[in-house]
Amino acid sequence: AGRLAGKRAFVTAAGQGIGRATAIAMAREGASVIATDRDAAKLAGLDAHGITSHALDVLDDAAVASAIAAAGRLDILFNCAGFVHQNTALTCTDDEWDFAFALNVRSMWRTIKAALPAMLEAKRGSIINMASAASNIKGAPNRFLYGTSKAAVIGMTRAVAADCVTQGVRVNCLAPGTVDTPSLQDRIAANAAAAGSFEASRAAFIARQAMGRLATAEEMAALVVYLASDESAFVTGQAMVIDGGWTL
Ligand code: NAD
Repeated sequence: AGRLAGKRAFVTAAGQGIGRATAIAMAREGASVIATDRDAAKLAGLDAHGITSHALDVLDDAAVASAIAAAGRLDILFNCAGFVHQNTALTCTDDEWDFAFALNVRSMWRTIKAALPAMLEAKRGSIINMASAASNIKGAPNRFLYGTSKAAVIGMTRAVAADCVTQGVRVNCLAPGTVDTPSLQDRIAANAAAAGSFEASRAAFIARQAMGRLATAEEMAALVVYLASDESAFVTGQAMVIDGGWTL
């Protein structure tokens, strides 16, 4: 029996990166895991870990509601879906603003709205949202919209935690530094021209982390497993900073 034995988990954006590593870590700890992603092809291979998976675009309210209704009573909801825009208050477009708030913030409200009633009825549940150290915690250059939307995730986390604090449901979020995932590779590539080369761009991302290295997705998964487990029973409403010393 693992640390999540007997628990049922629902994960968004589980096709790659932190979501995928977390789905696998939860399954290894004995949870029954439903892994979802907008891109069904990215879910390939999760079945080898005993994970059930299906396509889900978290921007589709009706699909979110029916997927969570079909999932049965959940003990764990991990809201991982999010997108990193690289912009400033001057370069951010209206479309980027709407997209980031729909994906990074509103979609988490919709999954919570769908999953919370059954958790409250069972008086048991752990909701974990993906925020970032780039938020109200740290102002990061060229992360205007990202930091603004991730600050909202922290606000939402604390608000829902306050509403549920006496009812057995805990709500926390992760505030990571830079994690080596497929989309980070895309961001490194997008900055390569400005930095002079792909290697120089990669070095600049690594230099932000005081430890001098990027985090792994597995290091994020370990914290999500802790927050999902009963080991963290006294922890709620928190933004857990896991950033290699970025905010030191
Ligand atoms: P990623 O960005 O490499 O992959 C994102 C996944 O989300 C993809 O599989 C994609 O198909 C899926 N996705 C995109 N839109 C979706 C939608 N509408 N519905 C469902 N799925 C969708 O993964 P990552 O870098 O591990 O990032 C995951 C989360 O962690 C994000 O919220 C991100 O903001 C956050 N985060 C990442 C870092 C980092 O450095 N990588 C740091 C802090 C926070």
